[in-house]
Amino acid sequence: MKLLLNTPSVSSLERKYVNEAINQNWLSINGKNTKIFEKKFGILVNRKFTLAVQSGTAALHATLKGLGIKKNDNVIVPDYTCVSNLSVVSQCQAKAILVDLERDTLGLDYEKTKSAILKYKPKALQLVHVYGFPARDTIKIINLCKKKKILVIEDASESLGAELGKKKIGSLGDVSIFSVRSEKMIGVGEGGVIATNNRKIYEKIKLIASRNSPYRSNKDPYWKKYYTSGEGYNYLMPHLLGSVARGQIERFKKKILVKKIKVGKLYRKIFKEDKITFTQKILPNHKPVFWLNSIYFNSLTSKQVQKIGEELMKIGIEVRSGFWPLHTMPNFLLKKTKIKESIKIFKKTLVLPSSYNLSEKNIKFIYKKITDLLNKYK
Ligand SMILES: *Cc1c(COP(=O)(O)O)cnc(C)c1O
Repeated sequence: MKLLLNTPSVSSLERKYVNEAINQNWLSINGKNTKIFEKKFGILVNRKFTLAVQSGTAALHATLKGLGIKKNDNVIVPDYTCVSNLSVVSQCQAKAILVDLERDTLGLDYEKTKSAILKYKPKALQLVHVYGFPARDTIKIINLCKKKKILVIEDASESLGAELGKKKIGSLGDVSIFSVRSEKMIGVGEGGVIATNNRKIYEKIKLIASRNSPYRSNKDPYWKKYYTSGEGYNYLMPHLLGSVARGQIERFKKKILVKKIKVGKLYRKIFKEDKITFTQKILPNHKPVFWLNSIYFNSLTSKQVQKIGEELMKIGIEVRSGFWPLHTMPNFLLKKTKIKESIKIFKKTLVLPSSYNLSEKNIKFIYKKITDLLNKYK
């Protein structure tokens, strides 16, 4: 048996659209299915403008560039997230100000964010919703950023479909970005999406992600095509991937999201919290999508947690550690505020199999194996 962390759900619909692209002999950017994907994605997350790109990392990078982040600007980045959030700041030669998490949802902590804002006067802030859970302090942080004129990049890579009150996660930043690589809420292989309601920002980001060449459309004269208005990137999503993406977005709500939520709820029904607790809480008015389900071992040392993880891997239960706190990564230019929570989470967390197709029996099996291993450390 192999219980996977997160496996994509791909069907004959994706195959149909990929065949369509091949039959049209159009494999590159500006594919019809990619356009339809962008449109449907925008409806899902309630945003006017969407752009499909080649990865979540590319989405973040093009966004920072489009927002004018440059050398020596300060950008707030959560300490507990994917390393891409840090890399892209470095790539702009800007400085990342790493800020600690809060223990309910693992999002940015409001008070710590506020002191970092007052101290470092950042130009932008990355707000990440971790493992499918809306960050607890989302609204307070966004309101503070508005007041201080700080641009908010909402990173909903792990949380497509989640809601906060009546609002969609991914509709809240000045710009919101998503990853749609295979292990995320929808899986396209590699891919990302940029979403905003601001036409000017959208046009700017789109230009930068299109090699900064403004005259590439069919309407422009042929002799203008190679003109460029500055440094740019070739980041747009090609049609084959856009075709998979179209199938995924059309099947998302009924075939993927409901199953992911069901798995998350099964975990919370089956696992009894005592020596282990869920790493994240479901807060009132929050609708998480349980991208990854994770547990925290109160009573064990980090070495013991690691041992349990290794035992689980041996018997086909795929686990991961928490994110390595970004301030521990070598070779980055960064400033860190006082950080103590993200290290604890990293050391004592196991992320468990969370694929859409896990059954009640699978999850009971995982629980049994974990409690058996825990009993060894009594
Ligand atoms: C996965 C992820 C990314 C990077 O996306 P890729 O598509 O892998 O480049 C960025 N931010 C967060 C929060 C992620 O989970």
